[in-house]
Amino acid sequence: MGKKVIVAGAGHGGLVAAALLSREGFDVTVFEKQKRMDMGYDWNDCMNPAAFDRLEIPRPADEDLLPFSGMNYLSPDCSRIVFDHRNNKVSSLGERKAILRHLIAFAEQNGAKLRFGVTVGQAVVEENRVVGLETSEGQIACDLLIDACGMDSPVRQSLPESFGILWQFADRDTLYTYRAFYERTNRNRSFPKFTCCFYHNGVPSLDWMITEEDYVDVLITSFGSFNDEIIDAGVEDFRRLHSGIGTKIVRGGQKSKIPVRRTLPVFVADGYAAVGDSAAMVEPLSGSGITRSVEAGAILAQVAAKAQNNFTKADLWEYETLYFEKWLKGILRDDATRMLMLSMTFDQLNAMFLKKVITAKELCGDETPPHDMRNKALGVLSTPGVVSGLLHYSARMNKVDKLCEQFPREYDEKKVRRWANTYARF
Ligand SMILES: Cc1cc2nc3c(=O)[nH]c(=O)nc-3n(C[C@H](O)[C@H](O)[C@H](O)COP(=O)(O)OP(=O)(O)OC[C@H]3O[C@@H](n4cnc5c(N)ncnc54)[C@H](O)[C@@H]3O)c2cc1C
Repeated sequence: MGKKVIVAGAGHGGLVAAALLSREGFDVTVFEKQKRMDMGYDWNDCMNPAAFDRLEIPRPADEDLLPFSGMNYLSPDCSRIVFDHRNNKVSSLGERKAILRHLIAFAEQNGAKLRFGVTVGQAVVEENRVVGLETSEGQIACDLLIDACGMDSPVRQSLPESFGILWQFADRDTLYTYRAFYERTNRNRSFPKFTCCFYHNGVPSLDWMITEEDYVDVLITSFGSFNDEIIDAGVEDFRRLHSGIGTKIVRGGQKSKIPVRRTLPVFVADGYAAVGDSAAMVEPLSGSGITRSVEAGAILAQVAAKAQNNFTKADLWEYETLYFEKWLKGILRDDATRMLMLSMTFDQLNAMFLKKVITAKELCGDETPPHDMRNKALGVLSTPGVVSGLLHYSARMNKVDKLCEQFPREYDEKKVRRWANTYARF
């Protein structure tokens, strides 16, 4: 029998890693607290099915994918729309439950064992190495523990401080969400089909409404405090803008959370690797993590399959290297934009939209050359507080290339710690 791998939580990336490692002859078991039939939310999410083709993973069925053509953004006062210039980008809205069923089938067909209804707890650590996992069925030993338990992973939170892996995500790195599909009551539409609003209704947030044929998909969010009043007021405000949003909820209607931050600086240790939301592998501005989690799961499997030294941190560092080589620049740019937005008040952010300081370029993660930024700052000189926010933004953007260059591609404990500290302060 091959080396023993445990996947804690049936997150997207964990399932992909489970499938690919089983295919390579590893003995893989996935422990998931939910029942098989309860897996996933009753809604669909933006994702890129082309990633499955690239990774040579079977593509989800066409009937589980709706077309999605890029989000358009509303200023906080909803008076200005910034059109996503990548609107021709090919992506989809994938049915969450069906995508998970698809990944579970892929893992099982390749030989992974899935244990539903089993809750996992702390990692078992001996001599600075993860050697097993506490579960509701007792302690289980493993050679590699893959943490795919999501943002509040109890496994990650149990790791010793000396591993240098962040335990908790701060409130401002967490988007509290409510999502429901409301019956569509008329064919009028005042905004583009995919519309997203920052600081909607005065709340620091990233809300959306997506108008489909029979329903309007409404997402109400908040960075930080969240309650039913915020939800009700947000939905009502969208109704004011979009008369077709009825009162009957046809799908969803749940509260949840999304990590919105840059990926953790360190997400591997001896015998341990995190994937997906557990390591904040998301687009920092939107929290989209499904496609990235799937891709990261495949990278992890590729690296683990050729690990020479029983999954040491040095072995697994290549997983971090390949992940960051692909996404670090985009992560840092998006995160700079997120922090700029979060540093603003409603009025300041609104002025930035109205005076075209924030345009599709910034929202789509493109680089704004320094002279453009200076001109933009001149346009909002009369709005108090905005210029200092822009200076911080500009300073962060100037650090992006250096931080990417400094990433230690070969594992060296001292260099890794130094880089992680710089990255944490970005
Ligand atoms: C309202 C909303 C809208 C979103 N929209 C999008 C979108 O459009 N596009 C996109 O890409 N992403 C979207 N996301 C984010 C997306 O859900 C995550 O980024 C994505 O699911 C990747 O996370 P994951 O698979 O790593 O973890 P999760 O999806 O959180 O899965 C973790 C799994 O671990 C299990 N688990 C947790 N704790 C335990 C435990 N103690 N024991 C055993 N099992 C456990 C959970 O039950 C779950 O099955 C959205 C999220 C929300 C809440």
